[in-house]
Amino acid sequence: MAVIGIMSAMHEELSAVLAAMPDEQVVHVAGREFGVGQWHGHDVVAVLSRIGKVAAATTATALIERFKVDALVFTGAAGGLAPDAQVGDVVVASALLQHDMDASPLFPKHEVPLYGRSRFDTDTSLSKALAAAAEQVLSDPAQHLGAQAMADFHLLLPRVHQGLIVSGDRFVSTTAESQALQRSLPEALAVEMEGAAVAQVCLDYGVPFAAVRTISDRADDDAHIDFSRFIREVASRYSLAILSQWLMHR
Ligand code: SAH
Repeated sequence: MAVIGIMSAMHEELSAVLAAMPDEQVVHVAGREFGVGQWHGHDVVAVLSRIGKVAAATTATALIERFKVDALVFTGAAGGLAPDAQVGDVVVASALLQHDMDASPLFPKHEVPLYGRSRFDTDTSLSKALAAAAEQVLSDPAQHLGAQAMADFHLLLPRVHQGLIVSGDRFVSTTAESQALQRSLPEALAVEMEGAAVAQVCLDYGVPFAAVRTISDRADDDAHIDFSRFIREVASRYSLAILSQWLMHR
């Protein structure tokens, strides 16, 4: 049976996933705890990605080399860049790019040297299935979120977007930096700190990859406000519901 790797960026998300796999075994590799078990009848290995590109690449490599995952899905939060990527929306990546990669003038800006590319595509059918699961979950947010969180974060009509997510080793939390990113990468929907690194590892190994991120902030001067509460009360619940919906119908 295919083994599915799930990388979560946050503790809250991972513990919700592990709680859905009651008989999971914990295996330690590279200082990380991998939860090996079953969810909706699928073999699943779930692990905390850790934060930043290098940490996430190590985690992805271990999932592939040691746990032989046949597909890898990343869930977490991201800062919205495109004007319509609002807090509470979900972005399913169609491609990822490292916004802080710049070996110019030797290589074009953002191109990963020796890969001949800056964008790393996600797996089309995996992404399509996850986007469908996200549409289903977001069609009735009240089923997954508390009324107070929905009111406080203005989550009445959340939307699912598909497109480019950019990654870099910076928490983008100033309006100036967010605007600079939007100018240099106008197609980017959202910014985070791991996805493009994992996409690159998955390309190296030929493992299908998909990434689903809930917009937790607008990557501006207010980005840090209520971040933890949003992760706990919204992003983690969406991740769990989307993954569960996806695996149930896979
Ligand atoms: N205070 C947090 C810090 C997390 S860093 C904690 O206690 O863990 C932010 C995480 O969310 C990263 O994993 C990153 O991928 C994502 N993220 C959310 N908003 C972001 C933003 N504006 N810029 C960069 N990464 C963001």
